[in-house]
Amino acid sequence: MLLAVSGTQPQQRISRGVEFLPDATSRMQVQDMLDNSSLHWQTEQSDLLSYGMQKVPYWFRYQLPRLDSREKWLLEIDYALLDNLEVWFFDDQGLLSEYATGDSLPFRARTIRSEKFLFPVPQSPGPVDLLIRAQSSGSLKLPINLWQAEHYLVYSGEHSLMMGIFFGFLAAMGLSNFFFFLTTRAVNFLVYCGYVFCLGLTLLTLHGLAYKYLWPENIWLQGRSVVLFASATMLFAAIFSRELLPVRRFSMALDRGLLMVAGLFLMILLLGLLLPYWLTIKVFLIVLIIAIFFICGIGFWLWSKGVVVARLYTLAWVALLSSALIASLENLNLLDLDIRSHYLLMFGATVETVLLALVLAISYNQQRQDLFEAQERMLHKERQLREAQQQAQDDLEYKVQERTLELEITLRELSQSNRELEERNTLDALTGIRNRRYFDKKYVAEVRRSRREQTLLTVAMLDIDHFKSINDRLGHLVGDECIRAVANQIRLHLRRPADDVCRYGGEEFALLLPNTDAEGAAVLLEAIRQDIGALQVHTPAGPVSLTISVGFSTGAVHMDVDDNELLEQADQALYRAKAGGRNQVQTYNKESGVA
Ligand code: GH3
Ligand code: MG
Ligand code: MG
Repeated sequence: MLLAVSGTQPQQRISRGVEFLPDATSRMQVQDMLDNSSLHWQTEQSDLLSYGMQKVPYWFRYQLPRLDSREKWLLEIDYALLDNLEVWFFDDQGLLSEYATGDSLPFRARTIRSEKFLFPVPQSPGPVDLLIRAQSSGSLKLPINLWQAEHYLVYSGEHSLMMGIFFGFLAAMGLSNFFFFLTTRAVNFLVYCGYVFCLGLTLLTLHGLAYKYLWPENIWLQGRSVVLFASATMLFAAIFSRELLPVRRFSMALDRGLLMVAGLFLMILLLGLLLPYWLTIKVFLIVLIIAIFFICGIGFWLWSKGVVVARLYTLAWVALLSSALIASLENLNLLDLDIRSHYLLMFGATVETVLLALVLAISYNQQRQDLFEAQERMLHKERQLREAQQQAQDDLEYKVQERTLELEITLRELSQSNRELEERNTLDALTGIRNRRYFDKKYVAEVRRSRREQTLLTVAMLDIDHFKSINDRLGHLVGDECIRAVANQIRLHLRRPADDVCRYGGEEFALLLPNTDAEGAAVLLEAIRQDIGALQVHTPAGPVSLTISVGFSTGAVHMDVDDNELLEQADQALYRAKAGGRNQVQTYNKESGVA
């Protein structure tokens, strides 16, 4: 590869010793050159015929060395951007051949259809003089080489190989990144594509290949394509830098600077379409130098801030810069290299293109990673939120359950208390047995049952005898004690669950004995009377004895009979017991009942 790059060399590079003459009037003809001996020809002292930006034509003359007449010889001018180029060969006999070419003529006007300017050197027995008139709206350079035709053939093959490799590589980079753009829709890939595409077109123009293959008829485009494509390249580079490097995060001013650089190149691109080339190329070169240092500076600065991609990015630009620098040093003959300077520049462009693609890939991956992490974080947050919601719901449900349970317990307790309260409402405070309220209800219920089922029911009324006198003699508290004792005594005698005793009022008690006939009732009531009569009630005032009178009535209640009948009959029987001398049990009978 290197052999090919440095390989075949021209027979002679024609530079030092060439005489040159700027034609300030732009009017001089070839005859003037030959005739007029008073012209001030200057002799070139350096190894490069380079005169910078010159609008006026330059004339050159040089006597070629004696050449082997058995070989064919070619004169090459290795700079593709000359607008007008005229070449004359003379010997002492006169004009041998003449050629007119350059960018201002269509490509087909060239004698040898090569992207380089090539001229066959005519044969002559004597020395051959060379006269050249060159004019360019860009920089004026004339790298003149004298080739042996066979060597040039070999060199041309090697050179084409290099070009093919390089432009093929650029095309592959552009295309693959274009596909990346199509699949990922990430605009950076497209910007990179634009960058590679325009860089390729710029270099194709610089090598004369674009004119040969792409627009051989388009003199207008050829005249300004360098400015157009180079500024488009830099426009894409600036956009690319702005998108790839996190400049915004560190400095808004520098970010605006990059935007301004992009804007400047866009402006130059547009002006390049309108204004003459010699003007726009100057502006472009000035802005280019500033922009490259600016972009490299930003790269170094971000590198120092620890931005990873900035390192590769800066290296990429430094590669291009240093190759351009070395190429110019070589051009100025300050440096001697085995490699031709265009190859060096192309090598720099290759390194840059590769490194930028790498930066692009890394930063794309980084962005994807960031996006992925952000999504992951969102997902995590959402999961936490859902869990929190679930937790809250669980808590709420638990609390509701807890409250419901408490409520149920309270309700149960409440109904329990209600029942107790109800129970207490039916009890007599003094004696602890059922009270009148209870009796009234129970009496009605038992009477109805008796009527419905036609069962016997006994109702008895008990009254303590001469109780008033006990109260009067011993006081009410003793009286109360006695009432309690009587109640207890009655209770002791009731064994059937259905039997009930209630305090009917004062010192009177009422008994309900369902399913009890008159005989049974008489036996039970008599036993009660006797036990109470035998009872000694222990009171603070000493033992007290007392007696009771009992009246009762037994029967199955008839359908058409009033509810209160049995009770009234019992009451009448009690009345009879009192009347009969007290301390006795009396049953109701119709005859006596009326009495
Ligand atoms: P009788 O033999 O005719 O029944 O005579 P008695 O003195 O018992 O007469 P009566 O039944 O008319 O009088 C009842 C008295 O009982 C009236 C009242 O002073 C008394 N007494 C009523 N309730 C209570 C009570 O709760 N405690 C006390 N200590 N005395 C009461
Ligand atoms: Mg009474
Ligand atoms: Mg009484």
